[in-house]
Order: sequence, then C-alpha cells, then structure tokens
Amino acid sequence: MIDVGRIRRDFPILQRQVHGKPLIYLDSAATSQKPKAVVEALVDYYTQTNANIHRGIHALSEEATALYEGARGKVARFIAAPRPSTVIFTRNTTESINLVSHAWGLRHVQPGDEIILTEMEHHSNIVPWQLLAQAKGAKLRFIRLNAEGQLALEELPQLISGKTKLITLTLMSNVLGTINPVRAVIQAAHARGIPVLVDGAQGVPHLPINVVDLNCDFLAFSAHKMLGPTGVGVLYAKEALLEEMDPFLGGGDMIRDVWLDHSTWNDLPWKYEAGTPNIADVIAFGAAIDYLEKIGMPEIHHHEQELGGYALDRLREIEGLSVHGPSDPSIRGGLVSFEVKGLHPHDLGQLLDAEGIAIRAGHHCCKPLMRKMGVVATARASFYLYNTREEIDALAAAILKAKEVFSVVAHR
Ligand code: PLP
Repeated sequence: MIDVGRIRRDFPILQRQVHGKPLIYLDSAATSQKPKAVVEALVDYYTQTNANIHRGIHALSEEATALYEGARGKVARFIAAPRPSTVIFTRNTTESINLVSHAWGLRHVQPGDEIILTEMEHHSNIVPWQLLAQAKGAKLRFIRLNAEGQLALEELPQLISGKTKLITLTLMSNVLGTINPVRAVIQAAHARGIPVLVDGAQGVPHLPINVVDLNCDFLAFSAHKMLGPTGVGVLYAKEALLEEMDPFLGGGDMIRDVWLDHSTWNDLPWKYEAGTPNIADVIAFGAAIDYLEKIGMPEIHHHEQELGGYALDRLREIEGLSVHGPSDPSIRGGLVSFEVKGLHPHDLGQLLDAEGIAIRAGHHCCKPLMRKMGVVATARASFYLYNTREEIDALAAAILKAKEVFSVVAHR
C-alpha cells in the first residue's frame, strides 16, 4: 500500500485552490503533476551546473555530462534496457515514433508493403505512418476493436501477411483505458519475423516494464506523463536496429566526422541526438524516475487499478452515465472515459472545473476511435499515484450536481 497522504505533500500544486476550491487533478493522462524533487533538480541544474555537454573540458561541462548520461542510465534501468546506449532522448513520444517512421521506415518500407496499427491509436501513432505510407506507396491495416473496447486479436493471423513490415500499437488506450496484450502481439509478429513498436505513452508511467522480457523492438514514451518535465521523450530500440538505421536529424553531436561532401555517424546513442539536447529536463526526468522507483511501479499500478475499479463502481451508480471501454477492471488502467446523457462532455468539463475538478473533455487525439465509438468527444478522468478515493467521491458528487444544473436549465 502506498502512503498517498505523504506522496501528496511532495506535490506543491496539489495544495492550491482553483475557483476557490481545493484542486482535484484528474487529468494525469494528459500530463502528470511534478514532485518537488523534479522542480528542485531543474533549479539545481540551472543554479549549480548549467553548461553544454559532451564537448567541454571544464568542470561544469563534465558535471552536466555526467548528470545527463546518469539520467539515461536511470531510464535504462527503469525499463530494464540491456544498455543505456539503447535509450535515445527525444522531445516526446510523438517525436520518438516519427524517428522510427523516418529512420527505420524510409529504409525498410517499400511500395505495396503493409503496416499494422489498431483502431485505438493516438494520432501520434497514426499520422507518422500515414506520411510514410504516402511517401512509399505502402498501406496501413488496422486491428479492429470489439464492443468491449478490446483488440479483436483473433483477426491478427489474417491481417499479417508476407507484406507486413511492422506492427505498431499502444500499450494502454488513452481513451478506453484498455491495457493491450502486447506480449501476445509481439510473439505473433516475431513468429513471422515482423518487428513491433509499442507506444508506451500511457503504459510506461503506470506499469512495470521490462523491455527484454517483453521483447519489443521499439518502445516510445514521454517524461511529462510520468512526473518528469515537458520536452523530453524516450525511444528505446534493440541495439541491432539502432546500429542499422540511418540518423533521423543531422547536425552537431550525432557525427563522428564531417567533410564537405559527406559525414560519418557517432556511436549509439548520440547518433540519434542531433544538436544540444534538453539537458536540464533530461536531468530532472532522472529525478522523476528516482521518485517513481522509490514508491515502486508494482505498488503504483496496484493503487491505480484499485482507484480505477472504485471509479467504475461510483460512476456506474449515476443514472444516465455510461462508461466506455472494458467492463473488466483487471484489464484497465487508471482512467475512465464516460458520457452523461444530455450533457455535452465540454459542458460537463466546465461545470467540474467550477468545482476545482480538472478532467479532460474532447477527442483525446483519437478521432478515428471517436468515430468508431459514434461520439464526437468523451469526458475522461485519469488517476495517478497522488489521487484518492475521496477525490473520486467528489467527482461523482460534482457530476450529480452538474446533472441537476443542466436539468434545471433544460426545463426553463
Ligand atoms: N500515445 C498515447 C497513447 C498518448 O496518450 C499520447 C499523449 O496523450 C501520445 C502518444 C503522445 O504523447 P506526446 O504528446 O507526449 O508526444
């Protein structure tokens, strides 16, 4: 059991008020809040160490380099990557996926080839593949969703063919909360020699991950959804793939040598990190990893599943409210998308905001999924290690109040 009261004291923002009410932050799937340790790491870096890395011979540069590369080591340990050099820092999950669609895709995907996605992907894991497919004359195919918001995996053997070059899917849906059986997909893909990219934007912040055990070929995720700063993403990839792929961006740091007519590439991981990286935020991301590890990922996952199950129970009690996604809490992460009959999700979001409750309302960057679900938007409450049952009670009470306000307005 984690000590949520103690954790909450580490997050200064959770002490503030919004519209005169204590903040109830239920939007961590969009971005998480940051503990003091992360903010302090940023301040310490800028007040004590600030220097450019890798090329300086002075003390500050050496210290900054050690901190930056130390953070890479922490990320590698967190996902059990075999070597820190298989961890590439990018700006976010989106950039990590674009790195693969360019550096791997342009080389391997040819006219007529196919890439398999799922119907629940975030735009970040659809649009880069559309661009690649357009550039190369390839085709995208999709694993369907069933009525429970789960992947229709029984159809995968028919989707995979000799033309399939890659399967790419999210570990956890940011709309439905579904935790996908990525291990089964990876095994089926590998049996046909096909690599798999896992979009870990929602999974890595909430579940223990071991990339060796999972055997994924690529894993993309963002620091800002796991207590870290914005502006830092990660691409993990198997070493052989990183060695074989071409660079994504060209410039300083990613080269070994440059002539006027050609260049040669730096070793991993720097071959994929062109220009001055986001040094301060990467270092502060290291502090976020320390924080998560101190609490323990299995404990965090357990807490969120417990909260998710409680939220399902409380919300289902509300007349006219329907929850999207699997009914089985054991295959859901800590987020709940829902609809309240007669209340537009944006109106609901605004009424909850007036109560100090921050939820998300909209298409969640999943427009194809919204069309599939037959809605234009959903309301979404998402939980993290700092959320409590009392906050879910407050959410349920505020939804009931919003329903009352709207029925009064509707009957005027
Ligand atoms: N994939 C999923 C499943 C997401 O939920 C998100 C963000 O919400 C992303 C990708 C994109 O993350 P970022 O905006 O940090 O690149």
